[in-house]
Amino acid sequence: MPECRSWGGLVARNTEIVAAEPWIAAPSQHRTPALAYGNGRSYGDSCLNDGGALILGRSLDRILAFDRVSGLLTCEAGVLLDDVLKLTVQAGWFPPVTPGTAFVTIAGALANDVHGKNHHRAGTFGRHVRAFELIRSDGSRLTCAPDLNGELFAATIGGFGLTGLITQVTLQLMPVTSVEMQQEVLHFDGLDRFFAIAAESDASHNYTVAWIDSLASGAQLGRGVFFRANHATGGDAPLARSKRPLPFPIRPPIPLINGLTLRAFNALYRAVQPSSPEPRRIPYRPFFYPLDRVANWNRAYGPKGLRQFQCAVPMAHARKAVEAMLRRTLAAGEASFLTVLKLFGDLPSPGLMSFPIAGATLTLDFPNRGARTEALLAELDRITIEAGGRVNPYKDARMSPATFEASFPDWRDFARHIDPGFSSSFWRRVTAG
Ligand SMILES: Cc1cc2nc3c(=O)[nH]c(=O)nc-3n(C[C@H](O)[C@H](O)[C@H](O)COP(=O)(O)OP(=O)(O)OC[C@H]3O[C@@H](n4cnc5c(N)ncnc54)[C@H](O)[C@@H]3O)c2cc1C
Repeated sequence: MPECRSWGGLVARNTEIVAAEPWIAAPSQHRTPALAYGNGRSYGDSCLNDGGALILGRSLDRILAFDRVSGLLTCEAGVLLDDVLKLTVQAGWFPPVTPGTAFVTIAGALANDVHGKNHHRAGTFGRHVRAFELIRSDGSRLTCAPDLNGELFAATIGGFGLTGLITQVTLQLMPVTSVEMQQEVLHFDGLDRFFAIAAESDASHNYTVAWIDSLASGAQLGRGVFFRANHATGGDAPLARSKRPLPFPIRPPIPLINGLTLRAFNALYRAVQPSSPEPRRIPYRPFFYPLDRVANWNRAYGPKGLRQFQCAVPMAHARKAVEAMLRRTLAAGEASFLTVLKLFGDLPSPGLMSFPIAGATLTLDFPNRGARTEALLAELDRITIEAGGRVNPYKDARMSPATFEASFPDWRDFARHIDPGFSSSFWRRVTAG
């Protein structure tokens, strides 16, 4: 059986690793508590289950039906978004919501109710799920839809895999008329400009996101590059053959990401993204999945891996809270490699525990340097909670039960739906259970 890791580098410890098929055939023959594992693209411990069983969902990899007229897709739970793209984009259908990597499973996207650069227009992934099949640890097999086992439907969308094993998903895709994007790139000199450009762009563009130069300080604090795009219409350039990701060949003994390399990267990044207020046609993959060009890029963080932090803060406090977090990060002398800022919209998710709330979302990546990184992350938690916001569970490996409670005060309502034979390292940690 393969080793199971999270993307931030945590390894499953003392875990029975079992393929989906034998677990489905006899759930009671395996260790409890159990938890499904998709493709391990969650950063922290929400996809791990130390001491219990991890059910590998990737072998459930068949696309069962794709209606080219209605855009309805039914597939097994372990199908990768990448495989969906290969089948449907040429036929004029696109995932309605996609995270920043195509290497997630459909069930993983559902269980974390992921969001994309179009949250302000499309909400979360779960809004587009029409039905799924769930197998509980007592062997029962349930179809869940908004009007069928509706409570379990809502608990499973964004339910961190805790309600059972998802085996099949039916998803409504979105029509597109091109495989290309019309992208505009705008440089901005600080947070006031970010908020102004974002508000204006969310009214005109389906996809918006900004990269922040986390090392810029003083008058340049919060400067960055804003990307906004719509799907192009017609007139596609000939298709480039899909490129295989370049391998990241080694696991270096020390992190390659540090203040020095980051300063060079940030300067280069601004330079290679020239401001182009005129729309430019680009293929969809570099727009949605720039990091997928290098397989296992997380190895650059060295043997201790990385810690990602993502918060969502209501709009009324967003400007102040984001500035405070950037200042705190600078003062701590920590280098965030990928700092991303975006506005979430107010479309509700059907999921009980879905992460996004209307406002701003800030994401930072740090090499894991132990106590000093933990101290900074605890500070970022504090700023988030004081601003009435929440910390993202599936990016997290260390938030306290108090931060989780403040982020999701209604978690006990959700907990009623958890399969008694399921749990995760994350869940035990934040509920002290
Ligand atoms: C480069 C990169 C960019 C990212 N960008 C974004 C982004 O823009 N937006 C965003 O929201 N997220 C983003 N993420 C996070 C990622 O989208 C989520 O963590 C996603 O859920 C990972 O899916 P996975 O298939 O790898 O599942 P895993 O990480 O293996 O598991 C995720 C959860 O799904 C559950 N699960 C998996 N399979 C099943 C199943 N069959 N039945 C029941 N539960 C199951 C697991 O128990 C776990 O709780 C990004 C991650 C990376 C590495």
